[in-house]
Amino acid sequence: MELKLFNTMGRQLSTFNPIHEGKVGMYACGPTVYNFAHIGNLRTYVFEDIFRKTLEYCGYSVRHVMNVTDVGHLTGDTDEGEDKIVKSSREMGKTVWEVAEFYTKAFFRDFGLLRCAMPSVVCKATDHIPEMIDLIRRIEAKGFTYSAGGNLYFDISRFPDYGKLALLDQQDLRAGARVEVDQGKRNPFDFALWFTKSKFEHQAMLWDSPWGRGYPGWHIECSAMSMKYLGEHFDVHCGGIDHVPVHHTNEIAQSESATGHTWVNYWLHGEFLLMGRDKMAKSAGNFLTLSSLVEKGYHPLDFRYFCLGAHYRTQLMFTFEGLDAARTSRLGLMERIVQLRAEAPQGPVQAAGKALEYLRDFETHAADDLNMPRCLADMWTLLRDAEVPSGMKLSVVLRMDRIFDLGLDSAKEESLTLDDESKALLEERRQARRAGNYKRADEIRAALKARGIEIQDSPQGQKVRFAAGQRGEKTVTSEDDRC
Ligand code: AMP
Ligand code: ZN
Repeated sequence: MELKLFNTMGRQLSTFNPIHEGKVGMYACGPTVYNFAHIGNLRTYVFEDIFRKTLEYCGYSVRHVMNVTDVGHLTGDTDEGEDKIVKSSREMGKTVWEVAEFYTKAFFRDFGLLRCAMPSVVCKATDHIPEMIDLIRRIEAKGFTYSAGGNLYFDISRFPDYGKLALLDQQDLRAGARVEVDQGKRNPFDFALWFTKSKFEHQAMLWDSPWGRGYPGWHIECSAMSMKYLGEHFDVHCGGIDHVPVHHTNEIAQSESATGHTWVNYWLHGEFLLMGRDKMAKSAGNFLTLSSLVEKGYHPLDFRYFCLGAHYRTQLMFTFEGLDAARTSRLGLMERIVQLRAEAPQGPVQAAGKALEYLRDFETHAADDLNMPRCLADMWTLLRDAEVPSGMKLSVVLRMDRIFDLGLDSAKEESLTLDDESKALLEERRQARRAGNYKRADEIRAALKARGIEIQDSPQGQKVRFAAGQRGEKTVTSEDDRC
């Protein structure tokens, strides 16, 4: 399988060739742990997980490194504002360390619920201050820095390739087109490597450094930690698209000025999840968390399926209608797997003929810059093909699920059990019907339908089926609400 990836550096599709045969070093910018991740953030991690699983599907052994930003990320990405975690700690009445620990745990809970594979290394910024100081020293020794107002800045005018990733206009850079509030900077595009308390009197996390007691700028942690765990030249760096113009641009400037050579070969960026017309963002207040979806009765994997429905480089607008459709498809898929198992009691059978052709199509589309919508279509076409034996369908779909990772290998009847809220609605409807309250019974039927669950009344009780399923109905009684 020849993998083609769209490299933000150079803006073109190119064949992926790792530095060391069979191995991939992958760095993904992790969360800033000052609040719950929103589902926009989580879309980016799902994309990275799909990418990692595609690499593994291709036979690579992946060393996946992710940082946790627990210091230094200001409310503005370009050094303005105050530290996000310090702000949260004041608002929550907790220490910065408590805030970071609480939201780190919450993040990895969501990450796991979405079946994102744990990175090989998770590294916290605050555990790597000496590495950051060493790297800043190297940058300083090569003459790329200056001090002003007590802070140490990176001087972009000394780094001719500055802005290459983001295709920043060289004239704008020279003129300093960005509006800047930090008077210490010579050019607004310069950025802080080390802050001292001269800027942040209230910062609780402070370390001694050659430049005074203070704390690191946000970007330096990713340069220092990626080099520590992946070496000074590695294969892939990913993140959300918003990181292109500032964070990743500055990471490149720092890393390459220190080493004098290329740092990363491939840059992959995931597009935004939108709410209405705007990017989902905590600062704008237009965000949803994964737990808020779960509270509404969705399974976390409904959101994973929803993400698979759009290419990672296209914007995806979040709507509950879209999530409902994803849920219906996912439940229908689970149901099909259970059904295939029943039809092929001998289990998965090695694919041949048409089944193999579907698998090849899927592989071609996955290798074409991770085209998951096409891959999903390949899977559904296979499932609908009456000529392919059930055992072969099973083996091919389970193989595809090595990338989708919707947990299909463990799709059992239990996974089709209704969630608690739907169960309660079903029970309420049973009682409403018994009491002759057909108006309420109809309302509940409509509410369940919106959740992808269809009800039929039969002499044995309420029959339930998932909307996308063709078969698989089972009688639901007051004792037995499994379907
Ligand atoms: P943060 O925790 O703010 O550092 O963001 C974590 C990741 O989520 C970064 O890679 C961001 O680029 C990404 N991100 C932020 N907002 C969105 C969004 N609306 N859609 C997709 N990714 C996002
Ligand atoms: Zn980063």
